[in-house]
Amino acid sequence: MPSSRASDPDPYVPHHGSRDFVVDHYDLDLRYRVGPNRLEGRARLDVRAVDTLDELRLDLVGLRVARVEVDGARVRHAHRKGSVRLRLADALQPGGTAAVTIAYAGNPAPATGAWGDVGWEELTDGALVAGQPTGAPTWFPCNDHPGYKATYDLSFTTDAPYTVVANAPLRTVTRRAGTRTWTFERTEPMCTYLATVQVGPYDVVASGEHARVARPAGRAADVRHDLDRHDELFSLFEGLFGPYPFAGYTVVVTSDPLEIPLEAHGLSVFGANHLDGSKGSDRLVAHELAHQWFGNSVSVRQWRDIWLNEGFACYAEWLWSEASGGPAADQLAREHHGRLAVLDQDLVIADPGPRLMFDDRLYKRGALTLHALRLALGDDTFFALLHTWTDRYRHGHATTADLRALVRELAASTDGLEELLDRWLDARGLPDLPPGGDPSSRGAGLRERAARPR
Ligand SMILES: [Zn+2]
Repeated sequence: MPSSRASDPDPYVPHHGSRDFVVDHYDLDLRYRVGPNRLEGRARLDVRAVDTLDELRLDLVGLRVARVEVDGARVRHAHRKGSVRLRLADALQPGGTAAVTIAYAGNPAPATGAWGDVGWEELTDGALVAGQPTGAPTWFPCNDHPGYKATYDLSFTTDAPYTVVANAPLRTVTRRAGTRTWTFERTEPMCTYLATVQVGPYDVVASGEHARVARPAGRAADVRHDLDRHDELFSLFEGLFGPYPFAGYTVVVTSDPLEIPLEAHGLSVFGANHLDGSKGSDRLVAHELAHQWFGNSVSVRQWRDIWLNEGFACYAEWLWSEASGGPAADQLAREHHGRLAVLDQDLVIADPGPRLMFDDRLYKRGALTLHALRLALGDDTFFALLHTWTDRYRHGHATTADLRALVRELAASTDGLEELLDRWLDARGLPDLPPGGDPSSRGAGLRERAARPR
């Protein structure tokens, strides 16, 4: 592949997002009626040019633009195939800024693509947004590129009976003529795909020390039962990964079953089938929480590095298993290695291509890569690496090359490490796992490590 220009969109999602400009802040004022699934919005985007710009291209899918203004002056626009193009009366020089305001409306619906339906989705009684990887433009106009983050203000008005949950702590709720308006405090910088809004018949209650749960009243007992070790999980991850990166964490449980849980900035969404009182999704609860560090705070710059999200979150499942009395990470690694060994070896996890970026083999091989690295580095260096990673790239972006550089920086000896990473990350064939480490460091050892002051 030829080297990409800074202005190229992400090669995994061409015709989508732009590197020509940054949106530093989104101010979204949305009105939504649940019954007819009708959304009316006004989005103000604080745009900053990276290159010289005489035209802007924003992403917006399935909704109709009524009016566009740039710095208060109306401009003409063209909206085709999910792209809103507008001409700037005065070209922006690199670093130049403009306020773009877009009024739009319609019946939001998921975008269909290579990864199934993503974005806005109606529930039996409410709605949700599942933005990864390209669903954000189904509910607001944006520069939908994973390599940029923005802050957000959200005001969301909907029918009074419904509860609204979004990425940031709730600031105010005001009631007017059968509706309620929910405003949310500005978030830490966030990727567009991690922005979300959840509308449903939810009660929002504290769940232990660290989280809130939003769920229908009828699901209270099941959810409480399934999350009864959530504080322990949270403490383990803070101990192993560093301080929780955001202002709060909310677990949303929908009335409907969902195919898969999904992560968003500061919250995770589970279906009624996931937290059903059987504790069958313990692994997924750990996985989604781990994404707050790996994916949501430290985010990929390009989708090709998706293993940095999914490999780490999958490895976090194994660490939780080990620390909570289940099979040790080393045992799980060897089991999954055996399963992967009999599957097709056509995946390079550091550049899987768009078709395979959410392939389960990438998740498992990503986790195996981290386990191989842990065995090669030793536990002290490996967990120091996790802390440094989440601290150095907190609320930012990182790449596989950044991870390799950090390994070189922290390893006592780099002998064989480059070759190990080459084999795991850049080659198709599945490498052997190094021999297991010291079994005395397992289980209770992880909990003890997590509890150590730093
Ligand atoms: Zn995941």
